[in-house]
Amino acid sequence: MNNKSEVSPFLLELARQLAVDYGARLGQVTVVFPNRRAGLFFRKYLSQQIEKPIWSPEILSIEEFFDRLSPLQVADHLSQVFALFQAFRDAKQAQESFDKFFYWGEVLLRDFDEVDKYLVNPDDLFYLLKAQKEIESKYDYLTDEQREVIGRFWKNYGNQEGGERSFSTIWEALAGIYRRFGDLLAEEGLTYEGRQHRWVAEAAKEETLSSSFESVVFAGFNALTLAEETVLKYFVTQFGARVVWDLDAYYVEDPLQEAGEFLRKYKEDRVLGRFFPDNLPNQLAQTPDTVEFVGVPLAVGQAKALGNELEVWSNQPGFDPERAVVVLPDENLLFPLLHSLPESISSYNVTMGYPLRQTLLYSFLEHVLALQQGKRGAKEQTQYSYRPLLALLRHPFLQHYNPELAQFWARQIEGTNRLWVLAEELKHSKKPLGNQAFYEVLFNPLQQENQVFDYLLTLLRYVRNHLPTQREEGGGIVEQEYLYQFYVQINRLQDITQQQTLDLSLDTLLRLFRTLIRNMRIPFSGEPLNGLQIMGVLETRNLDFDHVFMLSMNEETFPAAPNRSSFIPFNLRKGFGLPTFDQADAVSSYLFYRLLQRARHLQLYFNTEDTSQMKGEPSRYLLQIRYELGWKNLKERVLAHPMELSPVLPISVAKDHEVLARMERWRADLNPQLKGLTPSALSTYLACRLQFYFKYVASIKEPDEMEEMVNARLFGNILHNALEELYQDHWDLSGSSKVLPEHFVKLKQKVSGYIDRQFAAEFGQPDSEFHFEGRNVLVKEVIMQLVYQILKYDEAYAPFNLVGLEIGRDPEQDLFLEIELPQGGKVRLDGIIDRIDEKDGVIRVIDYKTGRDDKQVPSVESLFERTGKKRNKAAFQTFLYGLLYQEFAKPTNPNIAPGLYNAREMFSPDFQPHLILGKGSGKGVLKDFSTVASEFSAGLGQLIAELYDPSVPFDQTDDHALCSICAYRKICHR
Ligand code: SF4
Repeated sequence: MNNKSEVSPFLLELARQLAVDYGARLGQVTVVFPNRRAGLFFRKYLSQQIEKPIWSPEILSIEEFFDRLSPLQVADHLSQVFALFQAFRDAKQAQESFDKFFYWGEVLLRDFDEVDKYLVNPDDLFYLLKAQKEIESKYDYLTDEQREVIGRFWKNYGNQEGGERSFSTIWEALAGIYRRFGDLLAEEGLTYEGRQHRWVAEAAKEETLSSSFESVVFAGFNALTLAEETVLKYFVTQFGARVVWDLDAYYVEDPLQEAGEFLRKYKEDRVLGRFFPDNLPNQLAQTPDTVEFVGVPLAVGQAKALGNELEVWSNQPGFDPERAVVVLPDENLLFPLLHSLPESISSYNVTMGYPLRQTLLYSFLEHVLALQQGKRGAKEQTQYSYRPLLALLRHPFLQHYNPELAQFWARQIEGTNRLWVLAEELKHSKKPLGNQAFYEVLFNPLQQENQVFDYLLTLLRYVRNHLPTQREEGGGIVEQEYLYQFYVQINRLQDITQQQTLDLSLDTLLRLFRTLIRNMRIPFSGEPLNGLQIMGVLETRNLDFDHVFMLSMNEETFPAAPNRSSFIPFNLRKGFGLPTFDQADAVSSYLFYRLLQRARHLQLYFNTEDTSQMKGEPSRYLLQIRYELGWKNLKERVLAHPMELSPVLPISVAKDHEVLARMERWRADLNPQLKGLTPSALSTYLACRLQFYFKYVASIKEPDEMEEMVNARLFGNILHNALEELYQDHWDLSGSSKVLPEHFVKLKQKVSGYIDRQFAAEFGQPDSEFHFEGRNVLVKEVIMQLVYQILKYDEAYAPFNLVGLEIGRDPEQDLFLEIELPQGGKVRLDGIIDRIDEKDGVIRVIDYKTGRDDKQVPSVESLFERTGKKRNKAAFQTFLYGLLYQEFAKPTNPNIAPGLYNAREMFSPDFQPHLILGKGSGKGVLKDFSTVASEFSAGLGQLIAELYDPSVPFDQTDDHALCSICAYRKICHR
């Protein structure tokens, strides 16, 4: 045979052979495959061989076959975990919590399963484990991975002392746990798969296993467990069963080819070897019609490239999607692939496990659980933390359910800096924003453990009835499958936790749910004979296709990196014939070559990028094809996407008609009611004209950031407001604006309470007591010290009169200035002055500064310089306040002294608040603003004139240091 087109699929050959051999007696035959999927394809091929109606043979997977031979029923996974936990507690006589047990319980369960499937004598194994421990007290036989598992085990087990002693104790107890686990399940008439297989194999060994099967054919097996091997041989020798191997001479006859490792062993076996043909098929020696390696940058790029390729193939005559398979060793590429399928592929079938944790529904439930776990308070006082709450409000489910409501709450929380939100408020939002019924269910606080599952099930019902489905995965079928799986698992968890008399805390239950779901996969298994087949590697067993497209051909993805945890070290695994990682490599190698041996067109994709998940190194299988198989028509290409960065162009906004119209908002002559430009707006304009445009003209909102910890802005607000309230209350209570030295004892006593109130207000809880946590405790202390220092300075300065606090905030004390424009019209400037006081005829205009500001002003001119480093922004602001107050207090024409209470210098023994004007020997304390007022006023006039000059655009600053802290830097690409 020279042409691959003449090669038939293994299952078709098998169907032909059995039809010939058994004819009308096919109904008496039982065909056993490694999995159910092979049976479905086999049935299709068989129907093509039969011309008149006959009874179909019985088709079983190997698990079903064992199930039929054993009187024991396999318990579901959760029941096994709980039984193992009970066994552990009985054997150890320990009241260990289920939570701590759960992780390593899973590891133990897998180990026990293998011990039984490979018919290992548990007493011998556990005895040697213990003995080895005693000899190797430093555990130097352990691999790093095993050490890690054991380390995690002890961490989970909660043993803080005597780790080594306890380590040997667990090995001493293993045999007891193993036996008790089996007994506990048996008391319920149940077992686990490994024990069931052992029971059948031991009955076979003792020749007591009876069979109701007439003729059995085992087809397509490779790596048998010892229990399977024993039973197969028993059926061959006792009942004349047949074994049909699916193999190729290429890997069976080459002793170095790992793909043939198991088959070479069976070929030499007295019983199994007799089913090997004298002349092994040699299909891999024949070159496929086309074979190509395609390197693609990044994992998702492979899915895109394959989508394009499928479009080309599907338009070629003779291409049958049902004879094509896409194999995905990396399940994460399933959805990228589904999104990349061309329209010409009208139907497809997914046959693989997909992790539930990758679904949108899981992320939704994760956020819900985080919300419930992080809540505080009870009943009507329950509050949710903003973090999980915001994550939930931004989840696509809530955005779809009622986008306005979700956005309303997100804005509320961010806009008012609320760290905690009452559940009751969320459940019954006062604002009428459409349907809120889901919120009543969702934000219902979980108070008791036994409510968890009902709560989750109710949420799932809501999701099913009201929320979106992703259309792209086949009209929502995929979502229905998710929902169903979640529903089943939560129900099961509820049943089982109710049956068990375990005291599970809410946290434990939630962790249990998470662990369970994280490890679960959705068994996509629709009608597997329709359309393009999309499969995991394991699902391809026994199946053959003309076209094989395989993604993720990279080391550590295919073959996969060994990552299985076990309590049984490598040397004991080897010694007792338990599977090891090198055997896992042999299994994947067989799966790969078996899929290749009858394919006519092969396209194997690999990722060329070195990322954290993939090493970027092409799989060893690609190298083997290139150097060992010697296929002459092998083509290789690497798809590159040259990246060309478009040059970043400068941004400049001209003052056109529309822009100038927007700027009319500060024109006092056009609309006297409007507010004016603030000192910070002018400061921004001096720093960067474009930033001013974004913020004040275009009103592009800076992104709101939640501030769990006090940042610079909050720090300033708290200090300003605490000082304002402190002095204002003093003024109100004493009925006098006079502040005398003796007032300070009381003022200082009140500082802490005033600061607490400001914290509560800033964090959106004005009426409740603020809980200081973490860094906020320190921040409060720092603010207290600063306020005390200010009071200390004021005490020494007293007596003085308070003239005003936060002047300009109250509309009745309107603090503004109007500047004439050269082209006519007036521009209004506004300001709020922190504090104005008076002593001996000197009016101090005080600004509190919590940043790094100093008081040096080289010249009035320097206040308008555009380079951020030279300009003293605090002084510019204070000068402007001086001007504003001069305008405000016009009739009295007072002696104004602008000053800064700046944190940077407050603690210095010779602190004084006045600005220092001039350079070198010309330096002097500025105690009378009138000496500089006209120069400053002229500079301000020029600045405003420039701002309204249509020929000066809003352009970008040259000072890139400013860009690094600018909220609009993404727009500017800086
Ligand atoms: S990123 Fe730089 S140039 Fe752009 S607006 Fe901000 S400060 Fe101006």
